[in-house]
Amino acid sequence: MLAGNWKMNLALDESLAHAEACAQLGAKHASLDIAIFPSAFAVAAIQHKLADAKLIVGAQNCHQAESGAFTGEVSAQQWKSAGITHVLIGHSERREVFGESLDQIADKLVSARKAGLHVIFCVGEKIEERKAGRAEVVVGEQLAAITSLMPEDRSAIDIAYEPVWAIGTGESATPEIAEDMHRHIRRALTALRGCGEARLLYGGSVKPDNAAELAAQENIDGFLVGGASLKIESFAAIAQASAP
Ligand code: PGA
Repeated sequence: MLAGNWKMNLALDESLAHAEACAQLGAKHASLDIAIFPSAFAVAAIQHKLADAKLIVGAQNCHQAESGAFTGEVSAQQWKSAGITHVLIGHSERREVFGESLDQIADKLVSARKAGLHVIFCVGEKIEERKAGRAEVVVGEQLAAITSLMPEDRSAIDIAYEPVWAIGTGESATPEIAEDMHRHIRRALTALRGCGEARLLYGGSVKPDNAAELAAQENIDGFLVGGASLKIESFAAIAQASAP
């Protein structure tokens, strides 16, 4: 899977044009699931326009409640009603900038699965946690949110390992660091009933020139790309480098 997290970028006309180019990429790479996560305001328009394309259009976030007085928020049920199938939960910017707690994230997981959405669940440690030798512990604590789900709901979850120190910094994890953590995550998931099929994506400064080496690692099943997903040239080059 190759997923693009557009964050808070691109106007509507730019979003529609870029989504169309990503759909062409999806058609070109039959073996690759291409997913895009545009800004909330553009998701439904893109989904509507490209309903027949081989392209997953997802949401960057959802609220944990089904409905109610939560100005500015969108619930998992609302995304579902707009034909959206996938949602990102637990992105480090949501955790850090918006102060989402482990409990809140666990509630979001439950709410997304209740609505029938497929989740890409983001985990990753900060640099000081890695330096203190706590990277695996921190990621393990984040993964524990999955235990809030019934085993049958865990099969529609993929994990994105995104070390916070690699996001938007231009400095990705080395293939060895990424593979070590992915192996650890794979083991942790294997111990959790229902999680056996989860794909493990790597995210954090994935670029055309490091994608092939990262994709070659045994436990890296795809990428969640931020900055380099905003230009079709770099996104296409990453698709080319990571296609099986
Ligand atoms: P980046 O972002 O590729 O720009 O580092 C990744 C992400 O935040 O998902």
